[in-house]
Amino acid sequence: MADFITALNRNPLTGRLAKALGLPNPVELARCEAGYDAAPFAAKRIVLRAAANGYAEAALLAALRSGGGAPLAQPEEEKIDIVVFDATGCATPADSRALYETFHALARKLAVNGRVLIVAALHEAGADPVALAAARGVEGFARSLGKELGRKGVTVNTAYVARDAVQRLEGVVRFFCGVQTTYVSGQAVSVTSTAAAPAHLPYSAALAGKVALVTGSARGIGLAVAQRLLQEGAQVVCLDVPAVEQELQQTCSRIGASALALDITADDAPARLSAYFREHFGGLDILIHNAGITRDRTIANMTQAQWEQVVSVNFAAITALDGVLMNDGTLRDGGRVVCLSSISGIAGNFGQTNYAYTKAALTAYVAAQAGRLGKRGICMNAVAPGFIETAMTAKMPFLMREMGRRLNSVQQGGQPRDAAELITFLATPGAYGLTGNTIRVCGQGLIGA
Ligand code: NAD
Repeated sequence: MADFITALNRNPLTGRLAKALGLPNPVELARCEAGYDAAPFAAKRIVLRAAANGYAEAALLAALRSGGGAPLAQPEEEKIDIVVFDATGCATPADSRALYETFHALARKLAVNGRVLIVAALHEAGADPVALAAARGVEGFARSLGKELGRKGVTVNTAYVARDAVQRLEGVVRFFCGVQTTYVSGQAVSVTSTAAAPAHLPYSAALAGKVALVTGSARGIGLAVAQRLLQEGAQVVCLDVPAVEQELQQTCSRIGASALALDITADDAPARLSAYFREHFGGLDILIHNAGITRDRTIANMTQAQWEQVVSVNFAAITALDGVLMNDGTLRDGGRVVCLSSISGIAGNFGQTNYAYTKAALTAYVAAQAGRLGKRGICMNAVAPGFIETAMTAKMPFLMREMGRRLNSVQQGGQPRDAAELITFLATPGAYGLTGNTIRVCGQGLIGA
């Protein structure tokens, strides 16, 4: 759904006026309504390049091929849809020339809604400082390229990969080079072998047989996540507060999910959820901690109740639920957990000391949990949305809302579906290389960039 200014631009009657007024005219971002395609790269024009002495090129080629892609030997005049660059060999300042030469030649050739994935070396702490620095330089390059190409809807992301984890790039390539990465750009993820590998890696109907819980899913991002998980074949339980039970029931019967009216801050919520999933499903595979609230006030004007409510829903309830579900075996081995953080937690935000406290806490929480859960094959990540068009952002004052919407590389807000795409990907078996990351879905928002 287009926002007001975008709709003005796209209407033949008002488009000229919008241009004359110099209003932003955001590109139409590619989105997909269907579930995952087994061969997403089949009709794509792909370029795969590598710096000398890298270690990921063969795995990247295999990932592209498994998705039906055939990299071009020599790109000619036509536009390119996807560029994948193996920069794991970039270990000195001089090695950066390969980045320059490749993208200097290809930048103008990228099609609207094109995709760029740059893979950099993930070094151990204590590795050669120059190699470490050169790998980090790749991320700065990618973020800047994302800002240069964002107006065309092109996304540019970096995946740091450990040498022993290159086989785990397949799912990463499918997501970051796929249509689903619409509003995810300028991000850097680490691909590691921290989590035990799943036995089976389905890339379509990717969640068949899995049981998922999405908290706060009567509306907004949570509802979009529930729908997307259902599309991949999961059985989904939507949870929301008893006050919206009727709306929740109606929504669930429309989309084919189970409804559970429960306040996650209730003292008995962890025990009730544990009993519910054991009794009805024998356990739980996917836990999406989406429920969240804002109670915005400057710290001087904030009441203690406003502080406590936000801390209780956004942070304390999550740790309490995890404390039971992860430890009593309800969350099965191979599980996936995603926490909804926020760019507010990364950058801070005026009037949101309480909210930013909780959202920043979650980024450290997933990083700390990742190592503990890895042996059981459980991956835990955070997703930090920027400006997503939901009831929560509709409540913002007009000017702040317009700024949030426009101050990013694509000059528009994201849709709940965009956040749902990233969260769903992180819930799949194919995301087993990713754990402990916080990934923004923000159209490369300038706030906190
Ligand atoms: P929303 O307000 O539209 O939906 C949140 C849902 O959580 C509501 O249905 C609400 O009833 C439910 N909820 C609140 N307290 C609960 C409780 N105690 N127990 C159970 N359910 C409860 O919000 P949204 O915009 O869809 O955001 C979803 C998540 O994403 C939140 O964690 C939010 O902080 C985060 N986020 C959103 C944005 C954005 O732009 N929309 C940006 C950054 C982060």
